Amino acid sequence: MLASAEMSGPKFHLVTYGCQMNKNDSERIAGLLSGLGFSETATDDDADLVLLNTCSVRQTAEDRVYGKMKEFAELKARRPEVIVAVTGCMAGRDTDGAIRERLAPVDLFFPTPEMVKLPRWIAELRPDLVNSADLAEDYFKIAPLRVPSAQAFVSIQTGCNKFCTYCVVPYARGLEKNRPAADVLQEIRELAAHGVVEVTLLGQTVNSYRSSDPEVFSSENPYRETRRGGDVFWNDFAALLWEVNQMPGIERIHWTAPHPNSMTDKVIDALNLPKQVNYLHLPVQAGSNATLFRMNRKYTREKYMEVIEKVKAARPGIALGTDIIVGFPGETEQDFEDTVSLYREADFDISYTAQYSPRSGTLGFKLYEDDVPREEKKRRWERLQRMMEGITLRKNQAFVGKTVSVLADRCDGAWASGNTQEMKLCRFRCADPSIVGTIVPIQVTQALEWQLVGEREMRS
Ligand code: SF4
Repeated sequence: MLASAEMSGPKFHLVTYGCQMNKNDSERIAGLLSGLGFSETATDDDADLVLLNTCSVRQTAEDRVYGKMKEFAELKARRPEVIVAVTGCMAGRDTDGAIRERLAPVDLFFPTPEMVKLPRWIAELRPDLVNSADLAEDYFKIAPLRVPSAQAFVSIQTGCNKFCTYCVVPYARGLEKNRPAADVLQEIRELAAHGVVEVTLLGQTVNSYRSSDPEVFSSENPYRETRRGGDVFWNDFAALLWEVNQMPGIERIHWTAPHPNSMTDKVIDALNLPKQVNYLHLPVQAGSNATLFRMNRKYTREKYMEVIEKVKAARPGIALGTDIIVGFPGETEQDFEDTVSLYREADFDISYTAQYSPRSGTLGFKLYEDDVPREEKKRRWERLQRMMEGITLRKNQAFVGKTVSVLADRCDGAWASGNTQEMKLCRFRCADPSIVGTIVPIQVTQALEWQLVGEREMRS
């Protein structure tokens, strides 16, 4: 499948916005294009194909895409032969063509799972670039092309069945589709063979994972079930975690994002697997039952807190993170206070808090008026943010004098840094770049809001 356009082969330039799932999708696109003979270029100047992998979570995310598209329009005016492609959530949620219309210079506009058709589309538009238009077999069968690192994201699921009223994912990515366990385990085995020590399993509701091939779970796996159906099905994620935990070379397992309703007792039990990081990110979104109902989150505050209590009992000292939306339609001052009180009750280490932004195509957009004024959303956001900073600092201070385990992922000059098991950033003095990719014990000497500072512990 060699390209014939230039001596050096065709080039693509890929810009990615949004979440880890999008980053992993971009690795898949890069893998697919590299199989067609393309190589990646850091700028659009010499690219034959430019792609934007977009995010729709908030209007600001889409505005960045429209801004970037102005640059691509200029590029297209200079070099009309360049293929301009847009994928990701904006393409997925554009049910009425309004977004496509605003992205004038676009040649290809496709939802993420349709990346399998890229070879055919490129061949149609620029037959000089590729000489095979074979379609990729399946989204999950495309091998991601990764920058060498000790950490890797591994998608185990795509799409979502939950239909939270504010969210574009079920429209943009389709319904939940799970990857066979054998493929997931094979990918992780290969990553370990290439020096990866930490894997992050990705899915929109990752803990609702259902395996189509449970026979690959080994007979010693305590979460394996022979009887299928009913609740038993829901233990597949715990079973998968156990298998990953047995994998030689893998030292840390992380996963995101779970849904509270799929935190079964077995998944909670699996938080104690030896390689599981000491952190759980469990989106709550709101602390008021009225708001949770309008969001269609399908749980109550009480049910969420029950899960949190079970998690804390199963793994005392686990760090907790969450996602919160403030200013959802109809959110009263009391509803917001319920979110504040839930935050304190759960005692989260960190929250990714967003101000509600209506997204066309979602149920929330159709059903509810965006009736919380922008200034009020901002005030609520700032209040939660200030509270979080105080709590985070207090929690970080508890690490001073203790030893944490850090996976070093960068070394600049005299300092190296990486995440602890609690997913807290930790900096320490080290000028040796070979430390990157290793797990090192660090004695914490100082705690700041967003990072720990420490010294390398030298063990004799
Ligand atoms: S669970 Fe809700 S917020 Fe998460 S991806 Fe599915 S619909 Fe979106």
